[in-house]
Amino acid sequence: MPEMKVLIADSINEKGISELEEVAEVVVNTTITPEELLEAIKDFDAIVVRSRTKVTREVIEAAPRLKIIARAGVGVDNVDVKAATERGIMVINAPESTSITVAEHSIGLMLALARKISLADKSVKEGKWEKNRFMGIELNGKTLGIIGMGRIGSQVVVRTKAFGMDILVYDPYISREAAEEMGVTVTDLETLLRESDIVTIHVPLTPETKHLISEDEFKLMKETAFIVNCARGGIIDEEALYRALRDGEIAGAALDVFEEEPPEGSSLLELENVVLTPHIGASTAEAQRDAAIIVANEIKTVFQG
Ligand code: NAD
Repeated sequence: MPEMKVLIADSINEKGISELEEVAEVVVNTTITPEELLEAIKDFDAIVVRSRTKVTREVIEAAPRLKIIARAGVGVDNVDVKAATERGIMVINAPESTSITVAEHSIGLMLALARKISLADKSVKEGKWEKNRFMGIELNGKTLGIIGMGRIGSQVVVRTKAFGMDILVYDPYISREAAEEMGVTVTDLETLLRESDIVTIHVPLTPETKHLISEDEFKLMKETAFIVNCARGGIIDEEALYRALRDGEIAGAALDVFEEEPPEGSSLLELENVVLTPHIGASTAEAQRDAAIIVANEIKTVFQG
């Protein structure tokens, strides 16, 4: 069998590269442009990307040898999966690699809201000492509403239980056994929104979840409630969120993901009661290493037949 060739088009952890080198010739070109990729891809059996490189239909059609498109991470939004499937090309990813990391970031954002950490940090750096301005709340004893209890939502459950939180879950697709095993109360969305002190979102963006949280939903929430979104932009209606925050319908929000990324010109940027991060939910050394190793092993398995 001729040697397989793998193109690493976005930077991935070294461990993933060395795994692949055991079975294939590996070319690392993490600055490849879309034009260069169109030309180069014809020589490769597999391509590994993160989110920078777009594997479009045009790229797929220019790749007669291509057998695998691997995303060293979760979302395959940058891959034309339909075009790949039509050509019988496998699209693989590593959804389990980032679950703990995203869960930890979500909890970090909850704490940032509860203790006003971003504002307090800014204030101290401005030379102030405003102890009274930054009275916070404890997570202990509060009700956490988790929308979507899949891989990430489940990791949030385990960790927030240790904080002493009571947990409500809205997820129409999980079994009663899964809920019982996790020791959570499954409920409908309306009850979750009415009763939660913090709501955290862990569902995919689908036609069903687009603007799942909008004007009516914010009206159901407590005025003291916080909402956290580390899933996908578009699940929260950002215009409605802005109005809810401005009008005091809820107390605060933390977002890692946005309808437009970056959220240039968004009115949310003007508000003090929001904490924003630039889609870094999965950005830890451990998650990136695990993602690289998982996809490398899958490619090896396919190559070794
Ligand atoms: P998952 O598929 O394991 O879990 C999703 C859960 O949502 C499932 O239990 C499913 O039953 C539930 N669900 C689906 N539709 C629903 C609906 N309409 N209402 C309520 N529940 C619904 O996914 P995951 O790995 O836990 O990831 C969750 C989200 O996190 C995804 O959108 C993913 O893209 C996002 N994510 C974000 C980052 C980041 O960098 N911020 C990183 C990784 C994943």
